[in-house]
Amino acid sequence: MDQATAIYANSKFHDLLNMAQARRLDMNPGNQVTYLVDRNINYTNACTINCQFCSFYRPPDHPEAYTQTVDEISERISALEEVGGTRILMQGGVNPDLPLEWYTELISELRSRHPDIAFDCFSPIEIEGIAKVANKTTAEVLTVLKESGMTGLPGGGAEMLVDNVRLDVSPIKGSSDRWIDVMREAQRLDLTTSATNVFGFGETLRQRIEHLDRIRNLQDEANSEGRRGFTSFIAWPVQLENNSFGLRNRGRNRIELGAGPIDYLRHLAISRLYLDNIPHIQASWPTMGLGIAQIGLSAGADDIGSTMMEENVVSASGTTRTSASELELRKTIESAGFTPVKRDSDYLHL
Ligand code: SF4
Repeated sequence: MDQATAIYANSKFHDLLNMAQARRLDMNPGNQVTYLVDRNINYTNACTINCQFCSFYRPPDHPEAYTQTVDEISERISALEEVGGTRILMQGGVNPDLPLEWYTELISELRSRHPDIAFDCFSPIEIEGIAKVANKTTAEVLTVLKESGMTGLPGGGAEMLVDNVRLDVSPIKGSSDRWIDVMREAQRLDLTTSATNVFGFGETLRQRIEHLDRIRNLQDEANSEGRRGFTSFIAWPVQLENNSFGLRNRGRNRIELGAGPIDYLRHLAISRLYLDNIPHIQASWPTMGLGIAQIGLSAGADDIGSTMMEENVVSASGTTRTSASELELRKTIESAGFTPVKRDSDYLHL
């Protein structure tokens, strides 16, 4: 970690990007950049976790709290099918009013209506919330959700897997170990998993490397047990609008928080270098814009993410865009000098 922190801190911008791109080409040779046609669905905004950087959630008894019905969610999936999509990413708040049966019935009903769609659903903290309501272990919850038709557990809620950063901004969310434990359980069930990283909370570069180290260690563990582990890693800077984290830091030198384009690209590059056991790195166009994402394709990223169609969690705190068409993603990749390739949730080319 010392060497990585020194490289992160001291490398010249272009040297760092060039090293990362060389690593990317070693790991994913050729000129292809992948993308996914999918849809985000935020099925409930009721949540008891109260993360300081979140502008999306509402307390369960708040008049603006909502939970979508199976028909409302199914309509959204039908709209995705109409544009040739293959995956939904369904995440929401930690809603204490929804029993485990609500989730299993939802997933199995959606699976029967939309058999060709991959269902990457929830995040470790939601699994913990469901387990608490059901008085079961998180492994038991993941098992029954998989039996109902869930295909993957996205890695949302990792933020910074460094406890004194994490407990400062999300004290109820719990330790880094719990996020790692739930992801390990999901990987042992062969669910599709990804790793995320929200940065820019004022943490040190060393702490950012510590986050990457937790991810890399779990990946080593999965691979050593013959499992595929994380398919991919995506990082984005914390958004600072409309939330108590931004409010609490108002007046502070903004350059210390979040990330501008240069900081973001440096972080993307060091991620590619450090996570040498994770196959794919995504560029984050929703938070950084399509233009910076294009540069990210020459800084270690081999995937530009997905169409999303809607996004309500991160965007509530201020992102640039929440939807891009397939054509737009293809043109974005092409004009950056790469060949676009449509993929599925498991990164298989379509
Ligand atoms: S980020 Fe997720 S867990 Fe945290 S308050 Fe928002 S909805 Fe709840």
